[in-house]
Amino acid sequence: MKYDLIVIGSGPGGYVAAIRGAQLGMKTAIVEKYPTLGGTCLNVGCIPSKALLDSTEHYHNAAHTFKTHGIDLKDLKVNLKQMIARKDDVVKQNVDGIQYLMKKNKIDVHQGLGSFVDKNTIKVTKDDGKSEEITGKNIIIATGSKPSSLPFIEIDKKRIITSTEALKMNEVPKHMIVIGGGVIGMELGSVYARMGAKVSVVEFMDSLIPSMDKTMGKELQKSLKKLGFEFYLKHKVTAVKNRGKEVTVTAENSKGEAVEVKGDYVLVSIGRRPYTEGLNAEAAGVKINDRGQVEVDEHLKTSVDNIYAIGDVVKGAMLAHKAEEEGVLVVEQLAGQKPHINYNLIPGVVYTWPEVAAVGLTEEQLKEKGIKYKTGKFPFMASGRARASMDTDGLVKVLADASTDEILGVHMIGPRTADMIAEAVVAMEYRASAEDIARMSHAHPTYTEAFKEACLAATENRALHI
Ligand SMILES: Cc1cc2nc3c(=O)[nH]c(=O)nc-3n(C[C@H](O)[C@H](O)[C@H](O)COP(=O)(O)OP(=O)(O)OC[C@H]3O[C@@H](n4cnc5c(N)ncnc54)[C@H](O)[C@@H]3O)c2cc1C
Repeated sequence: MKYDLIVIGSGPGGYVAAIRGAQLGMKTAIVEKYPTLGGTCLNVGCIPSKALLDSTEHYHNAAHTFKTHGIDLKDLKVNLKQMIARKDDVVKQNVDGIQYLMKKNKIDVHQGLGSFVDKNTIKVTKDDGKSEEITGKNIIIATGSKPSSLPFIEIDKKRIITSTEALKMNEVPKHMIVIGGGVIGMELGSVYARMGAKVSVVEFMDSLIPSMDKTMGKELQKSLKKLGFEFYLKHKVTAVKNRGKEVTVTAENSKGEAVEVKGDYVLVSIGRRPYTEGLNAEAAGVKINDRGQVEVDEHLKTSVDNIYAIGDVVKGAMLAHKAEEEGVLVVEQLAGQKPHINYNLIPGVVYTWPEVAAVGLTEEQLKEKGIKYKTGKFPFMASGRARASMDTDGLVKVLADASTDEILGVHMIGPRTADMIAEAVVAMEYRASAEDIARMSHAHPTYTEAFKEACLAATENRALHI
């Protein structure tokens, strides 16, 4: 078969690129090695993790806050089997939805491992070994990523696990040790801590979610401590051993002393690595850099003229919405349009409770760049809406240019900030000043008033409710 566009990988980058290609009139094919579409995000990432986070948040509230709300419950317990089954159902609805979208947009789905034969030809090999060849004028590599590990850790998928196994546990751990204080570890650690597991986090850096504004990491640590987390920050893991039903993590603290933590499960969540195995990229002349990423230019073009790469397999934040924007960008370029992505305004979210959400520059980055800035903060403790829902942990922090008042960064930790950050993205895309937001009416009572108040605080220190 001959196509205008072949997309390899059906994650958020790949399937969105395919849909946009079809919308623009390209005869499009998508190649996916797994039987279900949707990639990491829909099958073992964003969607299942959020399903479990929602279920366990309900349980946690039922166990801890319902009584104060005046709701008495008897015999409350977790039915983990049902929780996992509901999560599987949510995943199924989503992956079936992608199948439907492929059909609707007349995109041919080729199930099997895609590998380059040459710069226009892809061989698709099915599980039974049978293969076919398809050709494409343009090809997009959207093969995503896989969990990474450390050379001395053997992931046995039983006691020493990655996020993939943590999404389908058949018991609630008594003590889960999470290696890595990043987003995935904090989200999945929260899932099990809410159901009663003790969670210990061993992190090499001096704060949680280290790539975000330092204030966020500190606040998140306070909230997770209340949930029963314990932290070993500035600890370098040196060994992980599975001793049957017990697992031991050995780490070196900042004084160089060995510290041992024992638990029944270890979740290794130290990041993800780009995935190009089996792709045979060399056959087309596509360069892979020494970090394992497909090398691309600012147009996401690889070292070969008609081959592009997007999402987790290239440089930049490993986020579903970043992959989607890149998919759209590549295809619109091919159609002769002039799209643009402002990478500085790709929001980042952590779906713990409180949620953490951010866009733009952190305070540390502003200092490093020598940009003069003003800070406005507003704590959720002072929000009427947050008091009503008993979600008073956290704050909104707005960083604005000291002379122009343009908003340069927004960092939020609190209830529903994952949704609230969209307002900051719009504001910053339109290069709003803190005062612009401060003068706009925000419905009362809503959590969004905290953003307005933080903008008021950044403008001339004139927050009204604190
Ligand atoms: C637990 C967890 C939670 C996450 N939560 C979030 C979140 O809340 N928000 C967020 O933005 N991001 C989240 N992420 C990250 C997000 O999943 C990724 O950034 C996103 O999936 C990247 O999309 P992609 O299209 O680049 O690749 P992927 O989604 O990884 O898809 C790549 C696809 O390519 C296929 N493939 C690979 N090689 C071949 C080949 N040779 N032939 C055929 N098919 C191939 C793979 O099977 C896969 O289906 C999470 C990740 C994890 C693990």
